[in-house]
Amino acid sequence: MAVTPSTTPPPSLPAHPDPQLDVILAGDLPHELAYAFGGPFHLLLPERFDANVTAFRTALDEAGVDGRVYYAKKANKAAAWIERCAVNGTGVDVASVGELREALGHGVRGEGIVVTGPAKADDLLRVAVLQGCLIAVDALDELDRVISLTTTTRPARLLLRRLPPAQPHSRFGLDDAELATALQRCADAADSVRMEGFSFHLSGYATQPRADLAGELVDLCLKARVMGLQADRVSIGGGFAVDYVGAGDWERFLAEQGPGDYHAGKSFTAADFYPYHSPVAGADALRVILAARPSGDGAPLAARLRRAGVMLLMEPGRALLDRAGCTVFRVQGFKERNGYGILTVDGTSLSLSEQWFNSEYLPDPVLLGTREPAGETVRACVGGATCLESDMLTWRKVAFPVRPRPGDLLVYPNTAGYQMDSNESPFHDLALPPKVVVDEADGRVRWRLDRRPPS
Ligand SMILES: *Cc1c(COP(=O)(O)O)cnc(C)c1O
Repeated sequence: MAVTPSTTPPPSLPAHPDPQLDVILAGDLPHELAYAFGGPFHLLLPERFDANVTAFRTALDEAGVDGRVYYAKKANKAAAWIERCAVNGTGVDVASVGELREALGHGVRGEGIVVTGPAKADDLLRVAVLQGCLIAVDALDELDRVISLTTTTRPARLLLRRLPPAQPHSRFGLDDAELATALQRCADAADSVRMEGFSFHLSGYATQPRADLAGELVDLCLKARVMGLQADRVSIGGGFAVDYVGAGDWERFLAEQGPGDYHAGKSFTAADFYPYHSPVAGADALRVILAARPSGDGAPLAARLRRAGVMLLMEPGRALLDRAGCTVFRVQGFKERNGYGILTVDGTSLSLSEQWFNSEYLPDPVLLGTREPAGETVRACVGGATCLESDMLTWRKVAFPVRPRPGDLLVYPNTAGYQMDSNESPFHDLALPPKVVVDEADGRVRWRLDRRPPS
């Protein structure tokens, strides 16, 4: 029995076109890699990472603002990104001993590393102090531990992390009273600490709240200097949106999507989804923040930073990985149910993390194939090769131009930011998908493993 062609195709959400990557995907490489690895794999494009870093730096230069970009390492565990950071002088934001070791081990200097995260382990703080990393202090007891780890030759470089007044339920940062105490303790610690300024990280992607809080912290720097503290930098954290899909497709999708569009009667509301379309994203979001007037009046943030001699630090994760990778699965089976298909791939939703947050990774997966489209689309959800009902890579019944067949390759676009490996697990003794770095040299596309096998 054939799958009944659907009369009303589900709203589709193609990722923004990427002709350069399409050329690579249309060649033999994906099929050869699928054969070589016998399972799913991730492609990484470090040149895109470099371009994204450059875009952030350009936005700083245009605004005449002294600033520094730190790649938030938790967004992707690959070595390729921190290798690029080490080479081109980009900082790295780490939050564990493992991440710090990785950054140092790939050549990022301690002074180029910012250590964030709550109640940091003593091992992490000790190495951070010895390596001259910048430590974003999250609590008063942590500040005491940092001060106790300093030596006369190695003062601790630190920022005080601000609890965002607009997000009072955040578990991160210091409130007003704690900040006042922390500033006094820094002043009392004299030469054993270098209090370099303040930091925050906000949930969500709105630009104005970031400008507002940055403006407030510039003022706080001026007050802290009166106490004899250095206080000449402010970190605005991460949260620069990524624009995955076009505005029209996104609006149509949100307006039209409903329970009938998902496997097993699953349903989602717009609030469940990442905002896959953002009119202002990446380095443009930084531009908007710099041009915004903190609290709605006075000089733009850029001018206030310049006037106060405050350096702007930022910790983008997802935005530096925009279009810097994709994930390739092999179709392992296809069957029909209730008028739609169930496609099973050779991996799991643990390699597409969004599925683990009661949400769905929405940019359309694309079938690589040479078959002519049949004229009618075939709707299918995408499941993983495990025994869990809930292991779905895509609950949505995606419209495919041809009937998927075992051996076809299915590509999830733009997965480098958080999707690839935050939740990965060798569940069912399935191998973790290898990461393959693709770049160009002498006009030819070449590939290597992100981490070479141990010798
Ligand atoms: C997660 C995190 C980031 C990165 O956030 P993105 O949304 O990926 O830009 C930056 N700073 C801190 C403190 C974080 O926890």
